[in-house]
Amino acid sequence: MPRTTEEQRQLWRDFECAEDKMIVVPFGPDRIRVAPVTADAWQALAAVMAHHRYAIRTTDTDSYNCRTIKDGTGRSLHSYGIALDVNWQTNPWRDHQGTRPVNFSSKLTQLERAEDVRVGIADTDMTKEMIESVLRIQTKAGLRVFEWGGGWQTVKDCMHFEIDVSPADMSAGIDTRTVEGWNTFVANAAAMPPAAAPTNPAPTAGTPGAPPANAGQLHVVIARGALNLRSGPGTTFPVLRNLAANTVVSVVGRQGDWARVDLEGDGLADGFASLAFLQPTVSPGQPGPGLAPTASPSQPGPSPAPPAGTGILDQVTPAAAKRMFPATGLGPITANLPFVLAGLGSFNLVDRSMVLMALATIRAETEGFVPIDEFVSPFNTASSPFDLYDAGTAIGAGLGNTVPGDGPRFKGRGYVQLTGRDNYTRIGSQIQQDLVGRPSLANDPATAGVILARFLLNKEAAIRTALAAGDLRRARKLVNGGSHGFDRFKDAFDRGLAALPG
Ligand SMILES: [Zn+2]
Repeated sequence: MPRTTEEQRQLWRDFECAEDKMIVVPFGPDRIRVAPVTADAWQALAAVMAHHRYAIRTTDTDSYNCRTIKDGTGRSLHSYGIALDVNWQTNPWRDHQGTRPVNFSSKLTQLERAEDVRVGIADTDMTKEMIESVLRIQTKAGLRVFEWGGGWQTVKDCMHFEIDVSPADMSAGIDTRTVEGWNTFVANAAAMPPAAAPTNPAPTAGTPGAPPANAGQLHVVIARGALNLRSGPGTTFPVLRNLAANTVVSVVGRQGDWARVDLEGDGLADGFASLAFLQPTVSPGQPGPGLAPTASPSQPGPSPAPPAGTGILDQVTPAAAKRMFPATGLGPITANLPFVLAGLGSFNLVDRSMVLMALATIRAETEGFVPIDEFVSPFNTASSPFDLYDAGTAIGAGLGNTVPGDGPRFKGRGYVQLTGRDNYTRIGSQIQQDLVGRPSLANDPATAGVILARFLLNKEAAIRTALAAGDLRRARKLVNGGSHGFDRFKDAFDRGLAALPG
């Protein structure tokens, strides 16, 4: 029995907008972010598409994305990591009068079918045969795994595939006999070289064979690209997900040159990563010189009514902050909170209101409590990543993006998701960092902490006024410009009122 979207939301609620629970898996040439237990289902889908010689484009294929559905009546299943949009450029979302079945093109090639979509005589560049194969994919218990958005009667969402079974059903596994082309797919995958290790490690990278890491010691990922987290200690083991540069992890053991890594902070191993790309960090609360805030403490910004001393910062423990972040692991909070507090301290934003403002902003922007790149999504990307932000676009103009390439160059980064040339320029000069020349600095935890604090300082008076009036929506708008993430912001703020000393 197909499940309704509401049933699926309930069954998968543990994953709702739980960015830090998602894993990155290959999908054809692309890499997609999905709920862990669904990994094999996407492999099966990729196998069927390969079998039908259907080409997947990386530029307009996307999975996890915390957002509401198009009619605004609830969260999209993309928010749970159980939906995938494939090639949206040639499989556009279409509303239409009344009900009707999907129109397939009868053309032989994907390119010709795409042309039929463009001129409006077909809804999709996928074939009827391929979709029938997709719908035949079953779990070992015989349940149909996928629902296809092109199969809906009232609208057509042909880019859209969603998991139609529960997490428990999914964990029983895929019956690979129902996956057309599975054996070829597996043979091809095995013939491919293992994913390359990240290149260009920072010069200070530890070398393989460096002294053993202390068990449970925090390390930061120093691979310039993403570091592969694998299921075993070697490059032949499957990649479980990527760890972005500057991600903080806990090393709970080692095997040869490989670290056993804990991402959740619960002491349990989540996979293996190459020690060459992990650098020990200092323990929270004792930022070393290399990790100190980058803004000069001798030049704090103006502060109309600075509360004296360290305010409540001493009392904002990881456990207290965790109460504002119910879906986030204690690990990333423990690792990143010191940088956030150091940033706030450097601008004397140390009272309860501003601390709550900072943490609730992080919850709205980067709930995983790790400074990260903005995800590619239909909201920022039409054909190449972040082209909707680029110079010459309406959004780009609002962001001060004036040079071609500014869209991806100044995409959202860090705890506050700093976006656009204007913001990078202004905040960069205020904190004396070359954010325009080195935009990726905005994801460095220490810098990201200072950026967040500086961003709030720039609006301090207005924020204090809004908070004093109890107008959280206005406070959120001062940071975001809109109300994106307001539910999370408010939830975090309310929880913080109970968790942090008044
Ligand atoms: Zn979709």
